[in-house]
Amino acid sequence: MDPPAHVVSNSNKISKVARVFMEQSRRENIVDFTLSAEQLKLQERAAEAGRALRGRSAEWDRSNKVPYPEVVEHVREHGLLALTMPTEYGGQGLTAMDYLITVEAMFRNSQFWAIGEPLFATAGPGPSMVMMAESQATRDKFLPDLVAGTKQCAIALTEPDYGSDLTSLITTAERSGDGYVLNGKKTYVTGATVNQLYAVFVRFDDIPGHRGIGAIIIEEDMPGVTIEAGPEFMGCRGIPHGDLTLSNVHVPAENLIRGPGSFGDLMTAFNMERLHNCAFNLGMAGAAYDEAEKFVRERIAFGRPVAEFQSVYHALVDMWTDLEALRLMARNAAASAIDGNYPKALETTAAKLYGARVASQITLKALELHGGYGATTDYAIERIHRDVVATIVAGGTPPVLRNAIAAYILPGVNVSQRSGRDSKKAATV
Ligand SMILES: Cc1cc2nc3c(=O)[nH]c(=O)nc-3n(C[C@H](O)[C@H](O)[C@H](O)COP(=O)(O)OP(=O)(O)OC[C@H]3O[C@@H](n4cnc5c(N)ncnc54)[C@H](O)[C@@H]3O)c2cc1C
Repeated sequence: MDPPAHVVSNSNKISKVARVFMEQSRRENIVDFTLSAEQLKLQERAAEAGRALRGRSAEWDRSNKVPYPEVVEHVREHGLLALTMPTEYGGQGLTAMDYLITVEAMFRNSQFWAIGEPLFATAGPGPSMVMMAESQATRDKFLPDLVAGTKQCAIALTEPDYGSDLTSLITTAERSGDGYVLNGKKTYVTGATVNQLYAVFVRFDDIPGHRGIGAIIIEEDMPGVTIEAGPEFMGCRGIPHGDLTLSNVHVPAENLIRGPGSFGDLMTAFNMERLHNCAFNLGMAGAAYDEAEKFVRERIAFGRPVAEFQSVYHALVDMWTDLEALRLMARNAAASAIDGNYPKALETTAAKLYGARVASQITLKALELHGGYGATTDYAIERIHRDVVATIVAGGTPPVLRNAIAAYILPGVNVSQRSGRDSKKAATV
């Protein structure tokens, strides 16, 4: 039987008419999130890829060392690289929804953050910014390697003195002949030492505020580029979140993504970061639920499985309910990516904000349900919890996300964090 006209599925092949209906349905909150047969197969492939590496997660976390090329190869063998990259460059041409369900399944089954990195670095915000490059020559130069996974792209926005206050960043790009000379330092760059390309936010020609910001691709072997591992992290270990120092780095014009005045456009590609963050929260909180359910079914106290105590099964119900709500918000965000555009800022930011909150609540509750065992490294839950907590601020701290959402939902109210020149556009990372 055909679905009712107001309900449209998220098939990869949707007609123009269906797209219009989808947009209308989305606005009325009646989008049908039923996965297509192809999406279910993709999800199972990602789950399989994650499950196969789960047994190694504890050691990779403990040693703080992931054999990353092996992980990339594993993800490639499962056909999960360059999911959203265009088919004309050899990418899979899939949707943001496909990306979301793949990444969620990968994290839920691997129970470890680093296994999702090859997907992130070949289809997430870095590659999405390369796709935004003004010049065809830039896309032709970088996309074939990105799609093949032979080069992967990290994203470098944060500086030692400017994180949330991103529009004050001080890494400079000065014009020099046909190209640019870059100076400055980026920090917390995820995958700093395992990627080969970096989409770097820079200030052009000393133009102040957001108006001076654009982005340039840095290659790891350019003279003047120093890459360091950075501090040891409590969670999300095994691949560094490191530093990128740029000292008089000469960059050819063809590495330009966008020049000054493109901060807003670049942030739309950044919505892929927040969608990834949300998929991560969903997958890892799902893994915490799985571990907690398994434990309370097996653990006996007072002569019965602890799952039979009302406060325990109510806790599971609350965790399950929060997961369902988060999945709906995440899919709503992914469904806002229509006609090849990136997911919309409001939906994605709200999903990321909600995800960071409920995922850390779920993992903490799951840890508590393990009793004393939850605090030991014998059980996966403590690692899952650390990974989730470590990412709360990645992609934007909760207050900064709230500021961004307030700007959408409270028109006419001055929610700017800044009183000076740039007050109309506060930083929103
Ligand atoms: C695991 C991890 C991975 C990361 N990966 C990357 C990456 O790949 N690339 C990259 O560029 N960056 C990355 N980051 C950096 C991340 O984006 C920043 O840490 C984040 O944006 C916050 O910036 P900050 O650390 O400078 O904190 P600050 O901006 O100094 O914030 C400190 C505190 O002040 C609060 N605060 C600041 N401004 C306001 C305000 N206006 N209103 C209310 N409260 C405010 C914050 O919420 C926070 O609690 C990563 C971080 C982590 C932890």
